Amino acid sequence: MKRVEIGIFGRMNAGKSTLMNLLTQQETSIVDPTPGTTADHKITLFELHGIGPCKLFDTPGIDESSKLGQKKRQKVIQTLKECDLVIITYPSNIKECRVENELISLAIKFKKHFIVIQNRINGIALENNNILLNHTDKQFISADLRQRENRGNLLELIENHVNHEKANKLLPFLKRHHSYLLIIPMDEETPEKRLLRPQNMALEEITRNWAYAITFRLDLKKAREGDKRERDRLVNFTQQIPNLDVVITDSQAIDIVHDWLPNSISLTTFSIMMIQHATQRLSLFYNGIKKWQRVKSHEKVLICEACNHSRIQEDIGTIQIPKILLKKNPDIQIDFSFGREFEELSIEQYDLVIHCGGCMISSQKLNRRIIDLERFNIPITNYGIFLSWAKGQDALDRVIEPWTE
Ligand code: SF4
Repeated sequence: MKRVEIGIFGRMNAGKSTLMNLLTQQETSIVDPTPGTTADHKITLFELHGIGPCKLFDTPGIDESSKLGQKKRQKVIQTLKECDLVIITYPSNIKECRVENELISLAIKFKKHFIVIQNRINGIALENNNILLNHTDKQFISADLRQRENRGNLLELIENHVNHEKANKLLPFLKRHHSYLLIIPMDEETPEKRLLRPQNMALEEITRNWAYAITFRLDLKKAREGDKRERDRLVNFTQQIPNLDVVITDSQAIDIVHDWLPNSISLTTFSIMMIQHATQRLSLFYNGIKKWQRVKSHEKVLICEACNHSRIQEDIGTIQIPKILLKKNPDIQIDFSFGREFEELSIEQYDLVIHCGGCMISSQKLNRRIIDLERFNIPITNYGIFLSWAKGQDALDRVIEPWTE
C-alpha cells in the first residue's frame, strides 16, 4: 500500500517521541529526559484524516557525538531523504539552532516539504525564533507537545504541508474498451497461487479503467529454442484480440516478443511500468544506458535487486544480464546487491547501476536510491530498458514509445 511517509527529526531531547505519541495517541515511543533515549527508528503505521495511510518515523537525535551516534546520524539522514514530509522539532529552552538549521538545510537540499515545531518547555515559547533559518511562519508552530489539545493544530499543519499530488497513474496510456495483453512466462521461480505484484497491479488498473486485460503464458524455454508452434500460438492469439492497444511483457521475454510481434503493435515491459510509476523519471533510466555506452572497458557495474527472492538457473539478474554484459565487454566487473545491501555499499565506485523493477520497496526508498546515485553522477538504468537496449535500438525505442504520448 502506498503510504505518505512522515519523519520526525531533531536533536536529542527535542520532544520527538512526545510528538510521535501525541500524533498516534498512544505510547508508541518511550519518553524520558535521558538524552539518546530513542536508540533507533520507531515506525508507526496509521491513518490520518485528510491524508490517508501514513508511515510515521520517530528518529534518534542527530547530535549524539559517540561512534554509535554517528552511525545513527547516517541512518537518520537516509530516512530524511525518503520522507514526503520532514518534521523538525526542537525544545524552547535552547540557546542556538545549529542542529535545526542543519536539518532545514538537508530538507531543502533533498527538496523535501518540511515544517518546524517548537516544543514549549514549561509553557515558555522561545522568543528569538528568527535564529532558525529559511522557513516561513506558515511552516512553524509553537506548542506544548504534552498537551493533547494541541494535536488538532499540529495535524492541520501537517495536512497543509503534505504533498497532496494525486498518485501517479500506473498505465497512463490506457484507453477505455481497448485491450491490453500481458505476457507472463511462468517458471520454477514463479510463486504458486498468485501473480507477481506488477502483473497484479496491471490487471487491476486495466480492469478499473474499463479496458480489457488479457494474459498469455509464454513458454520461454520453448520460445528460446525457436519453437515454431510457440511462436504461432502467440502470433495467432494476438491477431484475435480486438482493439489491442499495448502488449506488456516480462522484461526477460522482450527479445522474443519484439521479434515475434509486428512493429505495428505497441510494446513495453512490466519493469519499465514499475520504474516509471515509482519515479516518473523514465528518461533518467533511458539516459543511464545511453550515457554508459560511452564509457570504456574495465568499468564496474552493479546489478541491484530490491528483494531477496529464490533464484533459478536462468535468473534474470544474476545470470541473464551478466551474460549480456560480459559478452559486450569481458573486462567488466559485476557486483550484485540484494534487498537492503544497497544501503551498505560504497556506490561511488560504480560506472553503471542496473536496477530491477523495485516492486517490493516503496517509491520513497527507490527515489532515495536515485538521490544517492545522482550525488555521484552514476548512470542508472533498469532491467527492462537494459534488456531492450541489448536487443537493439529499435527494441529500446519501441518499449519507451507508449510512455511518450
Ligand atoms: S523487487 Fe525487484 S527483484 Fe524483487 S520481485 Fe520486484 S522486481 Fe523482482
